[in-house]
Amino acid sequence: MKTRTHLLASLTLIVLLAIALSASAQRLEINIPDIPGYTTLKCDFHMHTVFSDGSVWPTVRVDEAWRDGLDVIAISDHVEYQPHKGDIPTNHKRPYEIALGKARECGILLVRAAEITRDTPPGHYNALFLTDIDALDTAGKSSLTGDAAKEEEFLMQLRAAKAQNAFVFWNHPDWKARNGQRVWFDIHTKIFDEGLVNGIEAVNGRTFHVDSLKWANERNLTLFGNSDIHAPMNPRTLDDDAVHRPVTLVFAYEKTLESVRKAIDAGRTAIWFENKLIGRSEYLEAILQASLKVAPPHMTYRNTAYVSVQNISDITYELVKTSGTGPATATLPARATTIVRIGVNNEGKATLGYKVTNLITGPDACLTIEDVSPW
Ligand SMILES: [Zn+2]
Ligand SMILES: [Zn+2]
Repeated sequence: MKTRTHLLASLTLIVLLAIALSASAQRLEINIPDIPGYTTLKCDFHMHTVFSDGSVWPTVRVDEAWRDGLDVIAISDHVEYQPHKGDIPTNHKRPYEIALGKARECGILLVRAAEITRDTPPGHYNALFLTDIDALDTAGKSSLTGDAAKEEEFLMQLRAAKAQNAFVFWNHPDWKARNGQRVWFDIHTKIFDEGLVNGIEAVNGRTFHVDSLKWANERNLTLFGNSDIHAPMNPRTLDDDAVHRPVTLVFAYEKTLESVRKAIDAGRTAIWFENKLIGRSEYLEAILQASLKVAPPHMTYRNTAYVSVQNISDITYELVKTSGTGPATATLPARATTIVRIGVNNEGKATLGYKVTNLITGPDACLTIEDVSPW
């Protein structure tokens, strides 16, 4: 009897363990399709751990990323700011080293990174694909004094990143300037003109900095949208599609770090933020086309065709008519099929023109599609 009780207890423990393991092992894939020629990688290039001002261990960032359906992450702890250093001494190498094994187990690509952290202006910058983070720790290395020393040490950091062939983007450009204050200063012109910074974080956490799109267009900067998470990450759920971390979509030849690097060098990114896609129209249009499966009309009555439109993506598309014979507005919900009534001519043909109001291509611009023949 004692053995049987023991066996039952062991079985119960095994079942409980199995439940616990499966609960921690649920990944919610992000349904944003590949586009012609490229695989669409889901990435977050900005997050913190206890090694700077975050509140979790580096491996937790990998677990969270895997659970949220990501392919690529960068842990980017502050070079200059470690409020926990009484307990965890400054060691710029460790977050990457600690997270790497877990990332490999999960099939997540880990980019070695750090956040250059300066008062505004010039602000904060993430350097990706670093080989030596210590080389960015330039505090006290200038022979100048005061503001001149600060600026020189900042430029030394960016040049040290460039010497390692790192990719640098400007983080949350409007941080500390969110009441209409000036964001762009002479120092920004200098670092962009010198080619020290090649990207811009238009979305950071819950904030979308619209002017970033204008600057990205003018200066050919790569767009990023990242979580900048410090606390534990709330898991993504399908109950509220608008609540998910911002994701940088990278259009890469394949899922390798080399391909990620080539893609960001070439500006092949877009941002998934709330129920919006933000980026260049060529990529947004390709995602829209890959998301929608339009069947031939299953019924035509007088001059109206009834058409099934399946949206396989996690984005609900919002359309407003600009021309053609379609309905004045249309909502195509995520992961669902909708029946749309479309006007047709006497040959049964339709032409459609729409703007897609949640696919954002510029400060006051969204994707437009004209003269589309749906079948
Ligand atoms: Zn920052
Ligand atoms: Zn940060």
